[in-house]
Amino acid sequence: MKKIYAIIGDPVAHSLSPVMHNAAFDKLGMDAVYLAFRVSKGELGDAIRGAKSLGIAGLNVTIPLKEKALFFVDAEKVAKKIGAINTIDFSSGTPIGYNTDGIGSQRVLKETVDEIKGKKVLIFGAGGAAKAISFYLDAEGARVTIANRTKKRAAQLASKLRNASAIGLDTELKKHIKDSDILINATSVGMHPHEDATLVNANLMHPDLVVFDIVYNPVETKLLREAKRAGVKKIVDGVKMLVYQGAASFRIWTKGEPPIKVMEKAVRGALSSSKSTD
Ligand code: NAP
Repeated sequence: MKKIYAIIGDPVAHSLSPVMHNAAFDKLGMDAVYLAFRVSKGELGDAIRGAKSLGIAGLNVTIPLKEKALFFVDAEKVAKKIGAINTIDFSSGTPIGYNTDGIGSQRVLKETVDEIKGKKVLIFGAGGAAKAISFYLDAEGARVTIANRTKKRAAQLASKLRNASAIGLDTELKKHIKDSDILINATSVGMHPHEDATLVNANLMHPDLVVFDIVYNPVETKLLREAKRAGVKKIVDGVKMLVYQGAASFRIWTKGEPPIKVMEKAVRGALSSSKSTD
């Protein structure tokens, strides 16, 4: 029987996960389909229980459900520490929750930087994505600074990490960027339709800074354009992280190896053909 996978979120129509996973299923000749369902926070418990009853094989969970979804699953220990899930596996009968966002960012950074240990990493944002990314960086021995619009949230996140500090998005930024090896934007600033927004401009960056924007729509954000202008040598967009987190979910559900290149091509193709998604 055809296996069904899906993403739940609100909104969810913009998600590229269906395009990405269906391309993988097609490539591997799997009798499976990946759908998107709009689910409000109030309906989340019913949706997860309903998915299990209907025999849905696996779910991805996106904004704004990642934290609340923890209450309806047995969370794997890293997901529990992060405090959010983006993947649910039903294969054991009990819904098990995982967080693959951090795994995705970790793989991107491993491909970009020789050694994470000891690196000074400045992360913009203290939301779900920032939590997952900072958890892995901290575990690998990076020196993390969380910079967030709401400084209290930055402080809360930093206090859960082993070697992290918190700042606001104000004058302190200049000094911190100068001292940093890696800058990661994990806020939604610069995302469609606010494509001309950036938290920092070229004048604050230096060429040896690695600049990674996890926003993937547009692929080249204003932050990345500014990084280019500053002569930054290592610039990374958000598509690879999206693909790697999806690949990690795929492995959890199918125990098989996903066709990563096919998934990336499908995502980049969808992004270049539809400038209107958000
Ligand atoms: P979230 O939990 O809603 O967090 C949003 C973060 O952005 C918060 O830290 C918020 O600051 C900050 N923010 C929002 N608007 C801002 C503004 N105008 N100025 C300054 N800071 C602002 O969202 P999330 O799940 O972490 O996702 C964040 C972004 O990452 C989204 O664009 C999402 O699409 C992207 N993402 C990409 C991937 C990938 O695989 N590439 C994976 C996950 C997420 P406050 O705390 O002050 O509100």
